[in-house]
Amino acid sequence: MRPVILWFRRNLRLADNAALLAAVESGQPVIPLYIADGQDKGTASRWWLHHSLSSLDSGLRQLGASLVLRSGPPQLVLDELCKETGATAVYFARRFEPESRRQQDDVNDALGSRLDLHCYDDSLLQVPESISTQAGNPYRVFTPFWNAARSLGEPDVPSPAPQTLRVFDPLPESVSIDDLALLTDAADRHHGYESAWKPGEPGGLERIDDLESLLGDYVTSRDRPDKDATSRLSPHLCFGEVSVRQVWHATRQAGASAASASGREALLRQLYWRDFSSYLLFHFPDLPHKPLRAEFEEFPWSVDDSQLHAWQEGTTGYPIVDAGMRQLRETGWMHNRVRMIVASFLIKDLLVPWQIGAEWFLDRLVDADLANNSASWQWVAGSGTDAAPYFRVFNPTLQGKKFDPQGSYVRRWVPEVSESAYPAPIVDHGEARRRALDAYASIRGMRTSKQAP
Ligand code: FAD
Repeated sequence: MRPVILWFRRNLRLADNAALLAAVESGQPVIPLYIADGQDKGTASRWWLHHSLSSLDSGLRQLGASLVLRSGPPQLVLDELCKETGATAVYFARRFEPESRRQQDDVNDALGSRLDLHCYDDSLLQVPESISTQAGNPYRVFTPFWNAARSLGEPDVPSPAPQTLRVFDPLPESVSIDDLALLTDAADRHHGYESAWKPGEPGGLERIDDLESLLGDYVTSRDRPDKDATSRLSPHLCFGEVSVRQVWHATRQAGASAASASGREALLRQLYWRDFSSYLLFHFPDLPHKPLRAEFEEFPWSVDDSQLHAWQEGTTGYPIVDAGMRQLRETGWMHNRVRMIVASFLIKDLLVPWQIGAEWFLDRLVDADLANNSASWQWVAGSGTDAAPYFRVFNPTLQGKKFDPQGSYVRRWVPEVSESAYPAPIVDHGEARRRALDAYASIRGMRTSKQAP
């Protein structure tokens, strides 16, 4: 019987995978395929992807299959594979990044008339098209989006992994995982990643199992980088090793105490922030590059390369900023509160364009996600749709005292913090704040004068 192709994208899992289930249900033999299409450019994401693909391959082997790896533009790879095997259909999950959407169009244009293309939505709680204002426009602000999303009811219940898989025999040739050359970065960085993470579906499911114990303290401790109080599910969600529906339903069912109830609500809300970021990227594909508030295009940025370098290396002389940037370098992850602090410092204290910080994060984060990252950077800059007010300039010293009161987070990542070797602050925060407010006032002034007749 002629086979079907299951094209894995950022849904590198066996459970609650709509495309996989549908391919199995087709009754035809399945070819599990991953295409390295050059979209994963970040050094940390590429490390994660390498291990995630190995893990998926192990999971498939337990079902008697293995993962076929190819590289190139998806429409060409799929075309070639169909010619080699006589496959009649391709099953895959939809993605929302502009480059992924172009890929989907290319695949449709090249193969849509010859093959059955089956595209599934299971990467978000609600698809972006299902939520709009009464006037039919996209929401630009989170809370009304959230209310509208929740009024649609509970997301679909996740489905289990298939017990059996009818595999096409023999499976077509695959390149080796090493041929994909995903691990090109310095070995010492991988060492830090390896002790911090377990990429792959089993690692993600373990984190879901831990949710129950997290919820009681989530509200009070989620802003504390010195505590291990958040789920650390972001890279697993980012690569689709677990589905957001699995996380949503596990959270919903976890914990019966009153403290857990508020923790549950707060975590569910974060999952909708993830949906909202993809929703914004879907409706505003320029989100990664262009400020959503047009007046910010005229913002008087001023980049000092040595200050930017100090930020990247974690040597600004502000302990909480340096701790965050070093946590990022060593583990590929940074606590959310500290992401906000370091982003505010770069944009407001150093007047570096948010796009430069966003790009650095995309290279260094194991959870690098174009939608979440772009929306969050615009939020901190004040240029987004749901932006923090421009005058909220975090004081890095006070933020450190408030959210790392004993200084244990800082000491962990910046052990030399109390020694003379630790650098003096590269800018005076008071002066930098005034400079930032002047810069912000200048664009607000510009907007007023532009609007004047
Ligand atoms: P938890 O608190 O356990 O939250 C559970 C899940 O909810 C997260 O895994 C994530 O998927 C989602 N979530 C939580 N907070 C947010 C948020 N603010 N926006 C969107 N989704 C959220 N997150 C990424 O996944 N990838 C990024 O590239 C990314 N870049 C960021 C850049 C900046 C400047 C900032 C301020 C935030 C960024 N975030 C990004 C959002 C957030 O920091 C991380 O999702 C969170 O720290 C992940 O840790 P966790 O899984 O323990 O979160």
